[in-house]
Amino acid sequence: MIRLSDNVLMVNDMAGLVSRLRRRIPGFASVGVLTDRNVEETVIEQTGLLQKISSSAHMSVVKPGEASKSLTVVEQLSQEWLEAGMDRNSLIINIGGGVVSDLGGFAASIFKRGIRFINIPTTLLSMIDASVGGKTGVNLGGAKNQIGTFSRADEVIIWTGFLKWLPSRELKSGFAECLKHAFLQGGEALRLVNHGLPADPATLASLVEASVKFKDSVVNADLYEIGQRKILNFGHTVGHAFESASLLANAEPWLHGEAVAAGMLVALRLSVRVAGLSPDFAAKWEEFILNNFSIPKTCGMTSMSLMQFLRYDKKNVGNSLRFVLLKEPGMPLFDQEIAAESVREEVELVLSLLS
Ligand SMILES: [Zn+2]
Repeated sequence: MIRLSDNVLMVNDMAGLVSRLRRRIPGFASVGVLTDRNVEETVIEQTGLLQKISSSAHMSVVKPGEASKSLTVVEQLSQEWLEAGMDRNSLIINIGGGVVSDLGGFAASIFKRGIRFINIPTTLLSMIDASVGGKTGVNLGGAKNQIGTFSRADEVIIWTGFLKWLPSRELKSGFAECLKHAFLQGGEALRLVNHGLPADPATLASLVEASVKFKDSVVNADLYEIGQRKILNFGHTVGHAFESASLLANAEPWLHGEAVAAGMLVALRLSVRVAGLSPDFAAKWEEFILNNFSIPKTCGMTSMSLMQFLRYDKKNVGNSLRFVLLKEPGMPLFDQEIAAESVREEVELVLSLLS
């Protein structure tokens, strides 16, 4: 077991995960486990994880996907927990990807004015991003993460062995956040991702370790996102717009990382345009992104429709569009205001690269 930060642990195998949980659970009056149907049918059933950790835990299973991140589901869960007799001294264990940890963390943070929770991420994206950093929340209509809390998990326990159940499309999606962390750190971190998603589990585990440590260091310096934490939104301003638009367009919804990869294409171009990033650097990594992420087709999306979604981004103030840009690899700048028309032009260009 390695401690990556004060609340993030990395275990080497299933036995390590089980023994850690069995040490934690006795301190609580009751335990609720939250997962989604996909994770229940693969990871939990095939490993017998639930029986190994607690025979009396109350199990809640939600539908996989963003639709479960809603206030309606929060109400249903709270009702279930109430009926199961859970109280202030109960523990919630979220086992799954970002939807499960965002939803379960949010519900736990407001149930009985807040109970404790542990995250066990099963996707690459949730290991290096969603389950670390204390942001929880649900969507409101089509707009992502509009309601939520800053609430840190009691503990995050990472076992990269779960990734063998993850479809390759989801692995790539998580790798987009690894790439984002590498842009923000520069140097050695960029060399670690240079060859694409590692096929070998040990290399993948070290990439996860490095990525989590970086995210945690940024979050600890600025939990409430008053300043430096904003750099983690690199690629996300337009990324969220792609994500929302893909839910409306007549196409398969994009995964978060796919949208972030596309958002980083726009952010790299804007960085060259206004922040002095080297055009050669941007061109090299633009090609890398196009080759490594299998970003879906942009069916029906237009620069105008994407610009509409940018209005909802809670990082914008008034009508100005605010971006995280790169001056150099490892030198991000946040709160960079850019004229909407310049953004639209680069979005248009990126749409043409993706179509
Ligand atoms: Zn993200």
